[in-house]
Amino acid sequence: MNHNWSVEDLLTEYQKLLQRAIDEIWENTTWKEKKAKHRYPIGNGKYKYYETTRLFPYFPKSNEFKRELRNKLLKDWPFAKHYVDSTIKTAYSILESWRQNYLKGRRKRKKPVVKRKFVRVKTTLMKVEGSKIRITVKPRKKYLELDYSNEWFYERIKDWKVGELIIREKDVYLTFSKEVEFSRRIKIGVDSNLMSLDVYHPEKGWIKVDLSELHGIAETYDRIIDRLKSIQKKAPKRISRLLQKYYARRRNRIEDYLNKLVVQLSREFPDTVFVFEDLNKFKMLENGSRDFNRKLSRSTWGKIVQKLSYRVPIEFVNPAGTSSTCPKCGSKLESRNGQVECPNCGFKSDGQFVGAFNIFVRGLGAALRGGEARDLLPYEPGGELRLVNPKSVVRVDLSGRTFTHVPS
Ligand SMILES: [Zn+2]
Repeated sequence: MNHNWSVEDLLTEYQKLLQRAIDEIWENTTWKEKKAKHRYPIGNGKYKYYETTRLFPYFPKSNEFKRELRNKLLKDWPFAKHYVDSTIKTAYSILESWRQNYLKGRRKRKKPVVKRKFVRVKTTLMKVEGSKIRITVKPRKKYLELDYSNEWFYERIKDWKVGELIIREKDVYLTFSKEVEFSRRIKIGVDSNLMSLDVYHPEKGWIKVDLSELHGIAETYDRIIDRLKSIQKKAPKRISRLLQKYYARRRNRIEDYLNKLVVQLSREFPDTVFVFEDLNKFKMLENGSRDFNRKLSRSTWGKIVQKLSYRVPIEFVNPAGTSSTCPKCGSKLESRNGQVECPNCGFKSDGQFVGAFNIFVRGLGAALRGGEARDLLPYEPGGELRLVNPKSVVRVDLSGRTFTHVPS
């Protein structure tokens, strides 16, 4: 919302302080040589990988460093102390996002400079009464007041909790949060495969969310981008402008698709805990390995999980062997053309179903070993799993609110 405060001095001082925090952290950053992996597409969704040696930045993170930094910044700071903590936090997040871009080759090894004026206001600097907020600028001397009861968004958030604010020259951003209660907590297992998300729901069974459209979007733009790159030398400036345009379009369309995917997933499975494989334990699925190529890219999967985490409760389980462990007896499965078979008990199924099912089972907190199947498969009497086809296949509807069911 807009404001008519005179906060120029606060904005200017905050900008300077934030830059000082970045400067200090930057000066104390250590750089280590490390190998970085890169890849480029060679068509058919395949990539070629290569390594380079680069300097990796490590920011100082010890409590001692942070304490000293805080003390330094507090000297001559004319406003409330909490703003200093807010600049330190913001400085780290600016540097962290710079680091990620730098490692991807999108930024040079150059210290970030704060160009925009803004102030991040922590809740400790705010007093909230109904729709009125009082912000401390200088304790007992200067306060700012705002009331959002006449704003357009008021009806939607009136009983929500007020979070951090961001003050800019003419307007202020408000954030709100609300705790959601989940009455029933059915767990579902969600596995990512290259062309689908496979869900195992204890009552509804195996549901396949078709992602071929997502790949279609990515491939369409990859083709255009590759073609542009191949003729870039002919008109470097014009083509790099075009490239920027198509990169942005690709990003936006994928973002749009993913947003609709998570909304529709959360509507399809209300009151449900979503169980995923823990991405941080995905070390064994390094680039180029067979398993890796059968999965969605790590970054796409990460985005889906992150977006879902704003809407539904989520849990993570250990990913080791989820697609190769027999859900009936726990032996190692043999796979052939997407079908898996257990050499020990003879269990046969589709590999993608087994992945989702095993994630579901791990979400229940149970590890499968021989003889326990009966306890673990409450909805399939006797632990018999005869499902080999998904109960339904659904697709993201880009213009609707819920999944489209694909007739089988
Ligand atoms: Zn078995």
